[in-house]
Amino acid sequence: MSKVLILPGDGIGKEIVAQAVKVIDLLNTNHGMGMNLVEGFIGGSAYDETGSPLPEDTIVVAKECDSILLGAVGGPKWDSLEWDLRPERGLLGIRAELDLFSNLRPAILYPQLANASTLKNEVVSGLDLMIVRELVGGIYFGQPRGVEIKDGERFGVNSATYSESEIARIGHSAFQIAQKRDKRVCSVDKANVLEVCELWREVMEEVSKDYPDVELSHMYVDNAAMQLVRAPKQFDVMVTSNLFGDILSDCAAMLTGSIGMLPSASLNKNNYGMYEPIHGSAPDIAGKDIANPLATILSVSMMLRYSLNQAPLAEKINAAVNEVLDQGYRTKDISAAGDRIVGTEEMGNLIVDAIE
Ligand code: NAD
Repeated sequence: MSKVLILPGDGIGKEIVAQAVKVIDLLNTNHGMGMNLVEGFIGGSAYDETGSPLPEDTIVVAKECDSILLGAVGGPKWDSLEWDLRPERGLLGIRAELDLFSNLRPAILYPQLANASTLKNEVVSGLDLMIVRELVGGIYFGQPRGVEIKDGERFGVNSATYSESEIARIGHSAFQIAQKRDKRVCSVDKANVLEVCELWREVMEEVSKDYPDVELSHMYVDNAAMQLVRAPKQFDVMVTSNLFGDILSDCAAMLTGSIGMLPSASLNKNNYGMYEPIHGSAPDIAGKDIANPLATILSVSMMLRYSLNQAPLAEKINAAVNEVLDQGYRTKDISAAGDRIVGTEEMGNLIVDAIE
């Protein structure tokens, strides 16, 4: 029996997580999955409830669980709060607290949605790439940081720092994933300008010696951004730092046409994972029953595969998503003329029916 913490969060988080919970309930009842759910608070709703975007109780329960399913956090209601109380601090906090250093962000183009991409069909059709982003180090966490007065003017500073061991562990993560795919890793850095990236490149080379079956290449981040929109199918696994990965993975996501289709996993060294859609809380559409729940439902599939060792059930979810798309059902964000547009709830029900 696995225990999973459900953190719906803010905005559309509650609506989309509710659809994923329907899928989990069905897999428990009809397919013997054995997943026990507990619910907690994070983000703005946690602040409203407890005065903190990451209540101590959430951390305690998270550590007792095998995995976490998160909706999304944030919204204009909390934007004027002090820095440390903002919803996004809750998210960064739980990643750091659980040492979730390896962020897997697949960019897969569903053939049924080829027209949703802004790129030409031949450039993106069949796209299946995995971005492995370092998640708890680099410039987002490095010290010193802050804004101070220096020589009579405001001066802002952040520090891009990586230790050898931080680079090595994300390297191992990327190579191990590549071993299960097309066995190619492209490490993205800016080693021509930044010393921290010189070290990154050296350590990636060292790690690669443990994986002779995987081919390693290196690319500067500016070129990688260009190649992602020029010829994205050249990549299998890309591994990169926190900041570069943040930007490149959003770019890769948009190659697929909808941010509402893409799940993600953030893993620690024991394959404990937090699973979440890559999109945010979409306050502009919250409460309207139009959000796409598929990225969240596919996050459950990733959880089953990467943390809970139940790949056949993950396949059931993926097959159901394909079947519903084949039948022409779409939420508004992925719809084109002639599609059958359905709301969040109905899309959840269609996936449940397809699994049944
Ligand atoms: P967003 O991803 O929430 O929304 C961007 C656009 O995509 C919006 O037009 C939105 O309506 C649409 N969209 C997003 N998810 C969708 C879905 N499932 N179905 C249909 N359309 C969808 O990004 P944003 O607007 O920049 O940020 C809104 C809030 O979310 C901010 O407070 C931000 O800090 C937060 N945020 C949270 C996370 C997270 O929780 N992991 C990630 C990114 C942004």
